[in-house]
Amino acid sequence: MAKQQQALQAIRGMHDILPEHSPRWQWLEAKAKQVLSAYGYQEIRLPIVEKTELFKRSIGEVTDIVEKEMYTFDDRNGDSLTLRPEGTAGCLRACLEHGLLHNQSQRLWYYGPMFRHERPQKGRYRQFYQLGVETYGMPGPDIDAEIILLTDRLWKNLGIRNKVELQINSLGTSAERASYRDILVTYFKQHIELLDEDSLRRLESNPLRILDSKNPAMQAMLAQAPVLLTHLGEESLAHFNTLKATLDAIGIGYQINTRLVRGLDYYGKTVFEWVTDELGAQGTICAGGRYDGLIEQLGGKANHAIGFAMGMERILALLEQTDNLALEAVADVYMIRVGAAAEAAGMQLAERIRDHIPGLKLVVNCDGGSFKSQFKKADKSGASYAIILGDDEVAQQVAALKSLRIEQEQTTLPFADLLNTLHHWHTN
Ligand code: ATP
Ligand code: MG
Repeated sequence: MAKQQQALQAIRGMHDILPEHSPRWQWLEAKAKQVLSAYGYQEIRLPIVEKTELFKRSIGEVTDIVEKEMYTFDDRNGDSLTLRPEGTAGCLRACLEHGLLHNQSQRLWYYGPMFRHERPQKGRYRQFYQLGVETYGMPGPDIDAEIILLTDRLWKNLGIRNKVELQINSLGTSAERASYRDILVTYFKQHIELLDEDSLRRLESNPLRILDSKNPAMQAMLAQAPVLLTHLGEESLAHFNTLKATLDAIGIGYQINTRLVRGLDYYGKTVFEWVTDELGAQGTICAGGRYDGLIEQLGGKANHAIGFAMGMERILALLEQTDNLALEAVADVYMIRVGAAAEAAGMQLAERIRDHIPGLKLVVNCDGGSFKSQFKKADKSGASYAIILGDDEVAQQVAALKSLRIEQEQTTLPFADLLNTLHHWHTN
């Protein structure tokens, strides 16, 4: 006898989205698309795999992502490829490749899975979905404000605005960061005995990232560290102040978080995060910032860019705590067919109904069964109505229509009347 094969499982940290859960994803995606189109943002669809070099050059060698999180492999030609850990690099690569930044500005969004080899836990997965926005060609701070307003509107439309808080900071220009960096390193060296292993490693390569450390033993020391905001030049400060004034004028509250540096090397000037305290340690649902410098770094002409990415799983986790997820049933109408003649006529009738009422969700019972068992499935589908066809009905070219949700007498209707009745119900 053949040995039974062991069932295969998905890769750790990578999850199936089951049919039971996909409606809430679709609902969230639709809400997001609505807001994006209200601000005139266009979708760009990008490959999931890019050359490894793209991420190394853009994200920076000394970052969590490039140091330890990328899914990198050699393809059959020996080229080093990487499953995208984020969307900014690929989006910019595409825009440069296709000349989309030439004498024009762009407001773009992308959506899809990202891959990072992290330790899987609640809110942290190895395949996760991001919706990202990237804008090009606009120096800000008006566009900086716009993308924050857009996210604020999305939280409102999702009904989670009261669960999230906006944090902003400015990272200044690269020259300002460089001189601040020296001040910071001097400070850290005075407290070297307090630095953990990660921080010691970053002391020379990426000391700003130390500010981001979650290590409880380092918090008191970090709280006393010199603050980049107080070392900004006039232009960076003016940029930041105008952003704040715009948010103030529109009534968007924010916290200035002087230790918000973001994980990636390419940010400058405005950075922001939307955070919640309702998801434990994985509290950032959306993060972004300005990255003007990256464009030249990837071989483009000097230009401007700001964007953000939101983590869909974390937003859904927040939504699960509310009853805002207005989920639709699989079916509006479920067709029950019993008998050979009813099965044949029912399939044809269903097509007529779909022609007549586009948008109506009609499920036809397909695997036989008694009236009783088909009614059970009709009920489970969430349908409002059942169409009931037996061979008797077919002989008379009629069908029975029964409400599954409200007390209402079952009616028997000629096919043409059935179409009209359903049409009337569906459009009202
Ligand atoms: P974190 O500090 O949580 O590791 P990050 O700075 O690495 O986040 P970004 O690269 O800025 O995250 O990605 C933007 C958003 O994508 C995050 O704010 C988060 O909502 C989501 N995200 C990032 N990594 C993951 C992951 N491994 N699983 C699920 N969502 C994630
Ligand atoms: Mg991370």
